[in-house]
Order: sequence, then structure tokens, then C-alpha cells
Amino acid sequence: MNILGIGAHPDDLDVCCGGTLARFSEAGEKVTMCVVTDGRAHPVGDPAGVSALRRSEAQASADLIGAELRWLGIPDGGLVDDIPTRHKFIQLMLDVSPDLIITHAPDDYHSDHNYTSRLVTATIQMAWAPPPELAGEPVRKRVPVAFMTTANGIHFSPQDYVDVTDVWDTKIKMVMNHHSQYLPGPDHDASMIQEPLDQYYLYRLTRVMGEFYGLALWTRYAEAFCWWQAADRFVPRRLLP
Ligand SMILES: [Zn+2]
Repeated sequence: MNILGIGAHPDDLDVCCGGTLARFSEAGEKVTMCVVTDGRAHPVGDPAGVSALRRSEAQASADLIGAELRWLGIPDGGLVDDIPTRHKFIQLMLDVSPDLIITHAPDDYHSDHNYTSRLVTATIQMAWAPPPELAGEPVRKRVPVAFMTTANGIHFSPQDYVDVTDVWDTKIKMVMNHHSQYLPGPDHDASMIQEPLDQYYLYRLTRVMGEFYGLALWTRYAEAFCWWQAADRFVPRRLLP
């Protein structure tokens, strides 16, 4: 299967579904991780420099599980639903031809997350009959869309879970690759990380959500999903690992 994860910011997929993507990859599925915005928020330097740094961090996470990174490069905080942006998303659908998409739920805390969700559900439908100026074969199959957890699980009622206990160390490495999100100063590397990791909000958020969703599955760590319930979005078999 072609698995396409689409996150608004460079660390979103790692935090919310990194373990599931790792499990897909381990199972031999092709995984593409798309980062929609350029990650220039929370500046520690000039926007282009911050964006390049965040891209390299996302690349390191993708490399860790053998995934392909796609970087749409839309300015962080500036994502809107307009025709040029829709075309970027449709082109992504044509290029990847996904069998399953994992993205943000439509009611999350950040406008970029909500627009990403809305753009995904709009454009996977349009990829059936794409605008003629875009290159590639139309995506003429049923492509289910799974929504990964919102931040802190707020306004999110899970319908499905994936046990990520066996890939937890990989998931934490993916999350902690995003040094610029939690280490001070303009220059970051792994040698600056200090124990206990719980002092870093990004780690604590990931751990607590993993353990919380793990309770529902009677396992140590899990990730939670719900499904976009719409015509053409169901297949009669389980897709998640
Ligand atoms: Zn985000």
C-alpha cells in the first residue's frame, strides 16, 4: 500500500502518528510523510534559515523509518483554502496515489491543522478528475482518510487504535529529532538533550498521549484515529496495522 501522512507542521506526524507510520514501514508498505508548511514559526533566526532547519529535522525523522519526505513549503501560519493551495494538494495526491491518508482532524487547535484537514478531504475527491494543467494519473480508487489525534486529544473521540509499543523507541527518536522545537538557542544538536526527557513539553505530550491511548487498548502505548465518514471513503477491510 501507499501510505500518505499529511501534517501541517514538521513535527505533527511524528507526535500524532509516528508509531503507526513506523509500523507500516516495518511491514513493507511505502510511506510518504508530507509536511505542508515551512515551519518558520517560533523563530530562532531568519525565516528561511528556520525553515531549512525544520526541514532537515523532518528529513531525519523520515529517514529513520525509510519514508519519503514531501515538503510543500507554504508559510507557517499562512495556510488557507484557495485554488493554488488546492492544486498543490491535488498534485501531491496524483504523485503519491495513496491507498490510505492519515492527516489532522478537522477541529484541532491550530488553523494550519484545520485547513490541512479541510484541504485533504477536498482534494482527494478532486484528484478523481484533476484539473488538466496538473500532471499525473487521476486517483480513481476509494481512498480512506484517517484523522490522527488532535493536540491533547481535545474534541477527539477515537474510533480506532494502533498498538505502537514495539516501535515506541523509534517514535520517540522521530519526535526528539525536532531539536529546534524544544532546545534553546540558534544551534541545536542531540548532545544538548538532557535527562529527564519529561522536562521537554514535546516529549511529555507524546508520552502522556501514548500512554493514555494505550489504556484503551490494554497496551503500553497506542495511537488513536477516527475516520472521515463520507461516500467513497470506506473499504471492507482493516487498513491500520
Ligand atoms: Zn502543528
